[in-house]
Amino acid sequence: MTAQILDGKRIGAQIRDEVAAGVELLRARGLRPPGLAAVLVGENPASRVYVASKVKACAEAGVFSEKIEMPQSSTTAEVLARVEALNRREDIDGILVQLPLPPQVDEGAVLSLIDPAKDVDGFHPVNVGRLVLGQPAFEPCTPAGIMQMLRRSGVRLQGKRAVVVGRSHIVGKPMALLLLREHATVTICHSRTQDLPGVCREADVLVAAIGKATLITHEFIRPGAVVVDVGMNRITNPEEAARAFGGDEARIRQVREKGSTLVGDVLPTAMWELASLYTPVPGGVGPLTIAMLLSNTLKSAKIRLGA
Ligand code: NDP
Repeated sequence: MTAQILDGKRIGAQIRDEVAAGVELLRARGLRPPGLAAVLVGENPASRVYVASKVKACAEAGVFSEKIEMPQSSTTAEVLARVEALNRREDIDGILVQLPLPPQVDEGAVLSLIDPAKDVDGFHPVNVGRLVLGQPAFEPCTPAGIMQMLRRSGVRLQGKRAVVVGRSHIVGKPMALLLLREHATVTICHSRTQDLPGVCREADVLVAAIGKATLITHEFIRPGAVVVDVGMNRITNPEEAARAFGGDEARIRQVREKGSTLVGDVLPTAMWELASLYTPVPGGVGPLTIAMLLSNTLKSAKIRLGA
């Protein structure tokens, strides 16, 4: 089996170009650009990197963005007050609160205060409920991006067996709902699932959203399956990299020279050898998440501007 890649980089760029064109159309009609506010609480280095890349992507697509930084010691009340102020801003169409929040901040209270009409991450209970009911909603960016990638790559889902490993609110659960909406027969697995390899082997479409480097190996993948690897894990051990990437010398060198490399939840050699289509890490699912954030922000702006 010669596996082909699902090219998230290319499809993400395509979606971002479409957003830029949509922003241009608003401008041409004399309307303001879409606006996104990113609330960053505390010093988490990964969160800082994510917010910086979101802000950069906004600028490239012509979307106005504002980064709101708050100290690590912020209280729930202080974060709620910021969100409340953003809810009232005319020029802000999308509000994202970068997770995780510091432990003293009540994440549920914060996410629930975001105006559902500005909830471009799709985490507000109203949007989650709408998604469950099949009503128009802001869909969480990572699973929404995966659906775009599958659609644009011609993967047919109707009647197919889909297995999602992971049941988080951010990826696993909404992923399963979106696959169900496209008439796949969906199974959700998690840490207590019995015979995980056996269940995964039934999948025509396997989505791994676990957060455990290379947990999914050859025995989990049905030959010819479509494999979507959401996981983003760093490995630092050259032997582990050699096992994961087989003869891919560049990756092994990266670990030796830079100290680490990125790997998904699926063993790369297993995807290469068994899948018909698969998402590489990096360059698979990652680029779609930000693209869908921009797309949701444009969608919100168009609704709010009546455009
Ligand atoms: P969570 O930690 O919230 O959820 C992980 C899920 O995996 C849980 O449902 C857990 O089960 C399940 N799980 C853990 N261990 C096992 C196991 N041994 N067997 C079966 N299931 C298991 O993670 P997220 O959903 O937020 O993220 C998952 C991965 O995706 C991470 O690597 C993250 O970095 C990445 N990610 C990538 C994004 C991108 O843009 N590319 C965006 C978002 C996430 P249980 O519920 O029983 O504990």
